Amino acid sequence: MKLYILFVSFIMSLSASCQSKMAETTLKENPEKQADITSALYDTYDTYKESSLAKRRIKHHEIQPLIAKFKAKEGYAVTKVGESIEGRPLSLISVGSGATNVFLWSQMHGDEPTATQAIFDILNFLDSKDFQKEKASILRNLTLHFLPMLNPDGAEVYTRRNTLGIDINRDALALQSPEGRTLKRVRDSLDADFGFNLHDQSTYYNAERTEKPATISYLAPAYNYEKDINDVRANAMKIIVYMNKIIQNYAPGQVGRYNDDFEPRAFGDNIQKWGTSAILIESGGFNKDTEKQEIRKLNYVSILSAIYTISDKSYTEIAIADYEKIPENDRKLFDLKIENLTYKLLGKEYTLDLGIQRFENDKPNHNDFWISSSIVEQGDLSTYYGYETFDAKGYTATLGKVYPHKISSMTDFLKLDAFELLKQGYLFVSVNGIPEKIMESPLPLNITRGSYKAPANLRLAVGVNPSFFLEKNGKIMYAVVNGYLIDLQSKATSFKNALILK
Ligand SMILES: [Zn+2]
Repeated sequence: MKLYILFVSFIMSLSASCQSKMAETTLKENPEKQADITSALYDTYDTYKESSLAKRRIKHHEIQPLIAKFKAKEGYAVTKVGESIEGRPLSLISVGSGATNVFLWSQMHGDEPTATQAIFDILNFLDSKDFQKEKASILRNLTLHFLPMLNPDGAEVYTRRNTLGIDINRDALALQSPEGRTLKRVRDSLDADFGFNLHDQSTYYNAERTEKPATISYLAPAYNYEKDINDVRANAMKIIVYMNKIIQNYAPGQVGRYNDDFEPRAFGDNIQKWGTSAILIESGGFNKDTEKQEIRKLNYVSILSAIYTISDKSYTEIAIADYEKIPENDRKLFDLKIENLTYKLLGKEYTLDLGIQRFENDKPNHNDFWISSSIVEQGDLSTYYGYETFDAKGYTATLGKVYPHKISSMTDFLKLDAFELLKQGYLFVSVNGIPEKIMESPLPLNITRGSYKAPANLRLAVGVNPSFFLEKNGKIMYAVVNGYLIDLQSKATSFKNALILK
């Protein structure tokens, strides 16, 4: 009952908050109440979260039982609308009886799964016994159509492109891919009023001139080079302003506006042109959320907010000028930024900033990954930001040594006291008999395979793996191992893996 009341107030508040200056003033007078109300959906999220999907590398076979569940339910229609190149069925799940059609599709890029998970959370929410009255109103006004995982072949191997090797989001005109043809056919058959094009973006995007990651970015794509704004595009902009306002409560400053340069071959741009108000949602990065489960939750809140405002038409009152006020996406983030480091080169000392990024490498089954890091920029990085930033003023970067004792197996390697070795200046350990299937070192020590020769001097350069020590007054204080900073006193680190060097 409490939830119910919160929810009613929630919708009313959301509608009111965008309708007029007077309403805004009212809400501002009672900000506590507003915060309470808007948190209802966010706070109850776990009740509806689809627990069988818990990490990014999800596969087509994992979502089939979920789709089948809805096929068996009254009120839901599940239609096979196409097939991927490798023959995986593409399903459309529809619910509601309203005259306004809302079409949502996800993961046309196989390695962008966040919204696919959120779609099943939303379906669970719609199917739950809670909020019956409000949901009845939504489903009376709208018909919702979900097409999760448009590129299942890409998802299988966790790549952007489909099996034909093409980017489906550049195929809206030529329709060379069966997945693109399916998307076009479904859009046309529904003649949807609203279309949600659901993607993931690089975690290195930030809201311009801030250190905040662009956790969610929005775009109302342009339908021509002139970037004109007709009613179709204006409605998309209004919905975005509405969603942004909600997301600011949970990730303040972490919303970006995606570049709206016209791309004649992209689906979003063409769907806008074809008369469906197209809204792009990009899931970016969030600190310490590698599997993007918090971002999934924000997707859920964002998309449901949009559905509410479309249902009660409250978005129509929003000024599109507010769309331009959302900060633009920039790409100025590193996983680790080290500032003011002392680096010795050819006998002299220099000061450097380092920008380090950690790249995911899929394991053969594409269910898991290991990290290899690189220095991607160095020099004055004062206009860049880090998820983690370390001021290394007074610290000198030094070379790690190779541990003199050869280790005969992985089992013995795992018995080493890695932190003790790091403190003694060892960063590389030669290990024999490492099974081929092991891709990474689980300890913060890089493994070598015997023939490895340590360089005579530390080299810091773009493209180089960052593994070195930070010394102060001749004492090793920190290790940087495969791009992870490790405080050797407190052992504090977000370390995942070190490398196995060939
Ligand atoms: Zn994408």
